[in-house]
Amino acid sequence: MAKQYDVIVIGAGPGGMTAALYASRANLSVLMLDRGIYGGQMNNTAAIENYPGFSSVMGPDLAENMYQGSTQFGAEYAYGNVEGIEDHGAIKVVKTDTDSFEAKAVVIATGSEYRKLGVPGEEAYGGRGVSYCAVCDGAFFKGREVIVVGGGDSAVEEGLYLTQLASKVTVIHRRDQLRAQKIIQDRAFANDKMNFIWNSNVEEVLGDDQKVTGVKVVNNQTGEEQTIDASGVFIYVGILPKTEQFGDLGITDETGWIPTDKNMATKVPGIFAIGDVRAKDLRQITTAVGDGGVAGQQVFKYIESLADTGATV
Ligand code: FAD
Ligand code: NAP
Repeated sequence: MAKQYDVIVIGAGPGGMTAALYASRANLSVLMLDRGIYGGQMNNTAAIENYPGFSSVMGPDLAENMYQGSTQFGAEYAYGNVEGIEDHGAIKVVKTDTDSFEAKAVVIATGSEYRKLGVPGEEAYGGRGVSYCAVCDGAFFKGREVIVVGGGDSAVEEGLYLTQLASKVTVIHRRDQLRAQKIIQDRAFANDKMNFIWNSNVEEVLGDDQKVTGVKVVNNQTGEEQTIDASGVFIYVGILPKTEQFGDLGITDETGWIPTDKNMATKVPGIFAIGDVRAKDLRQITTAVGDGGVAGQQVFKYIESLADTGATV
């Protein structure tokens, strides 16, 4: 028989860990499942400077602290690659690639993944110069020239991180204005190692039979084409929701994000969604933990309401 819990939290990023903390403090039995290491995207972030209580904290350190906190009231944590949720009313069945678990309520906190650029060479040179994680791979490019593609917070902030390792960082952006927060832009413009190529699209990642050697870039205003030499290409062109496993529940919108009400409830009673995976404007650690706190409390209320209605669980 499948092991039963009050609540299963899918994803142990900042959102999921906070939901587990709140639900377990309400004396519910909680299982957190993650197919990676707990901490989620925080593990891919060097210095976090906008989390209250810290002037600056390393992402993996904050992840470890959150994990210790989230499990102190009995929430269990286990590896699990979740492939779907079956909704049987008062009981939900969460299926991983190896197991099934039952719960009265489920919190989806699966976050987002990097959008691919979709140009020739990107896939072929993956792990051979093309990267989506400066914190993970930046050290391979010590003293070398690298390219960053994108103009958002991730591209500019991770570009700044790379200046500590690379000899030169060239940001290639498709417009002539960055999307990144003003404070991050100001730092980037003041950094001698940061260079910008505006109004330009990377059309191909170039390389030899071993590794990346550069990119082909086309100016979208003039049509001018040029080759930029580089050893590494870091791609930060946005994020996509990790919700493909939940499509059959009918809880996603047309772009794959999950809309919720103010209590983080989805269209399906007993299934909640929090953090980056939710349809919302601001995707940050602070907003993920805020969502997690709300969901942790709301699952308690939902489970109480099941008992009130006499639903058999
Ligand atoms: P995530 O952190 O994405 O965690 C989701 C978890 O779900 C992961 O551990 C994943 O393994 C797991 N998962 C996914 N699918 C499944 C599945 N099917 N089965 C089991 N587990 C699954 N925000 C800030 O506030 N400050 C910053 O400085 C900052 N820097 C950033 C830098 C970068 C490069 C990026 C990409 C983001 C940054 N952010 C920053 C944003 C912040 O990291 C996210 O908003 C936050 O991590 C979202 O938390 P989450 O819990 O919703 O999801
Ligand atoms: P983002 O904000 O969506 O920015 C994506 C960037 O990539 C944009 O500049 C976009 O250009 C560009 N882009 C998109 N598709 C492209 C394509 N096909 N070709 C070339 N360029 C393309 O994504 P993000 O920077 O990864 O940030 C994701 C979320 O995490 C955001 O909510 C962000 O605030 C958050 N985050 C926060 C921090 C922080 O607080 N310090 C750090 C990192 C991330 P346009 O500008 O022209 O659209």
